[in-house]
Amino acid sequence: MFNEVYDVIVVGGGHAGSEAAASAANMGSKTLLITMNLQNIAQMSCNPAMGGIAKGQIVREIDALGGYSGIVSDTSAIQFKMLNKSKGPAMWSPRVQSDRMRFAEDWRNMLEQTKNLDFYQEMVSGLIVENHKVVGVKTSLGIEIRTKSVVLTNGTFLNGLIHIGDKNFGGGRAGERAATGITEQLVQLGFESGRMKTGTPPRVDGRSLDFSKMVEQPGDAVPEKFSYLDVTKPLTKQRSCHLTYTSNEVHDLLREGFDRSPMFNGRIQSLGPRYCPSIEDKINRFADKDRHQLFVEPEGWDTVEYYVNGFSTSLPEDVQFKALRSVAGFENVKFFRPGYAIEYDYFPPTQLQHTLETKLVEGLYFAGQINGTTGYEEAASQGLMAGINASLKVQERDPFILTRSEAYIGVLVDDLITKGTEEPYRMFTSRAEYRTLLRQDNADIRLTPMAFDLGLASEKRLKRMEEKHSKAEAFVDFFKETSVKPEEINPILEANDSAPMSQSDKMFKIFARPNITIHDMRKVASVDAYIIEQNLDTEEIEQAEIQVKYAGYINKEKNNADKLTRLENIKIPKNFDYTNMQSMSMEARGKLNKIQPVTISQASRISGVSPSDISVLLVYLGR
Ligand code: FAD
Repeated sequence: MFNEVYDVIVVGGGHAGSEAAASAANMGSKTLLITMNLQNIAQMSCNPAMGGIAKGQIVREIDALGGYSGIVSDTSAIQFKMLNKSKGPAMWSPRVQSDRMRFAEDWRNMLEQTKNLDFYQEMVSGLIVENHKVVGVKTSLGIEIRTKSVVLTNGTFLNGLIHIGDKNFGGGRAGERAATGITEQLVQLGFESGRMKTGTPPRVDGRSLDFSKMVEQPGDAVPEKFSYLDVTKPLTKQRSCHLTYTSNEVHDLLREGFDRSPMFNGRIQSLGPRYCPSIEDKINRFADKDRHQLFVEPEGWDTVEYYVNGFSTSLPEDVQFKALRSVAGFENVKFFRPGYAIEYDYFPPTQLQHTLETKLVEGLYFAGQINGTTGYEEAASQGLMAGINASLKVQERDPFILTRSEAYIGVLVDDLITKGTEEPYRMFTSRAEYRTLLRQDNADIRLTPMAFDLGLASEKRLKRMEEKHSKAEAFVDFFKETSVKPEEINPILEANDSAPMSQSDKMFKIFARPNITIHDMRKVASVDAYIIEQNLDTEEIEQAEIQVKYAGYINKEKNNADKLTRLENIKIPKNFDYTNMQSMSMEARGKLNKIQPVTISQASRISGVSPSDISVLLVYLGR
């Protein structure tokens, strides 16, 4: 059935697998996507939403690099919000509420339209490895398919075990079976594996809810979108979410089920996502809080199904039901399905290189939840990177690695492979030391030139980005070079409680003042005339505004990033042996031997490696 040798086989059609398949195929690699159920391509296992704090920036980065997640998030969106708009631009984070079914359908359509991509529905039960190199996969029907590289993106499916109260059964996700065979084989090959868990809330029938008892949460009045491409448009209509709260009565009802909870009776041992705790975890850990927020989110444009965000649980279904019926607006609730928790295998990501290729088996890449991450965006971005690097390797081209100062994706990969993770890893803005540089508004400026070099962005796209960039820069120069007289600017300053000017000065200085916005500056005739004459659009104006108002922070971070780049340039030889470096702590020697950092900078980020260990290493390397 499969006579040809593929360049890249992607195992799993979740968020990681879909991006991996798209990037590999778009880079010209003959690619096969094998997944257990082709109806469930890029299925949203948990909440029907993309983006959010730090995750929204990742989706913009994926889009700038030529991935599909941004486009599909736009085409399937039912509501758009720019979170944190009241804070500085480093914190602005786009988020959409998605139509779950349309999201999966649009993903599948986009993949079907992708050249060089074949599909096959089956479970992969093992890998074919020869001389520490992957050369194929085996399916559960016993079919062998040959390839030059494999990207594993099994998500929560490896030996997945679903828990609802005291019942548990094998499964990769509600209604889908678990995947077996792969973990056992990888462990035999020398890989270390671990166990993690995550959970999801019940889905309910919107017709049984009383929304008049909840607070409406509409989308933004002027919605934006994810993709930098003009193939998608901002929403013209939106669906609202609703906010309600738990109460002490609800908490008491939930506590009645604690003795049957797999979380508390020891049946679940593995760690779950700290920042996305179950409701039982919340009332247990924060016993003094007498209510928790619940966001009631529609699952699509036309469906009556709702997702109860904040009520993730693995308590027995009767307890879930009784407790939810005590929530305001849920008195007559009908369940579509109860919440559940799932335990699954993952592989500590310190076993990977920056390319996401495993250190043990050549040509084998891991991406997504299999690496101990949680979240669609984290998974999708790893899939994109693994697909790119698998293709580059097959094409004998240099690897593609993003640094911590270039992208959140760089931070994510570097954190995973350098520090590892013992609990599900999700991205936060606080994980990025250069977050003022890594904004959602400039992901295209940062990354589209790289996508063009990789063959994932067209020349037209690159030109468009360059035009936006140069028009914004020219507008900043205009503020630096053009003066304004006190008689013109002082009424504007007074209206904004800003100190008046006594003599003419450059507009850059005035615009940089905290309470002066572009709307104020446009009242200066020459500014308005410039915008009209240069035909600047909203994005270009916003880009220039950020460059002026945050110039101090941006320059400081650029300087720090340059210093880091210098350390990134000090390479450590491959397979460097730290064992006999007596002046270095035992812990540092052990960790450095295990992780084998590629640069001094990476070595310095390994926990347990101190600045004095780094000094010793520098001396050793003759620096
Ligand atoms: P998945 O989306 O899980 O996709 C894996 C794909 O691989 C599936 O299509 C599967 O069929 C296929 N597959 C697996 N094994 C094989 C095989 N051997 N052969 C062929 N195909 C195979 N994220 C959050 O951010 N917050 C949460 O609270 C949260 N809760 C979750 C709750 C539950 C119950 C689940 C299941 C997931 C939850 N997630 C949550 C995680 C989110 O769904 C994942 O992070 C994301 O989907 C991971 O993407 P992925 O591509 O790695 O894997």
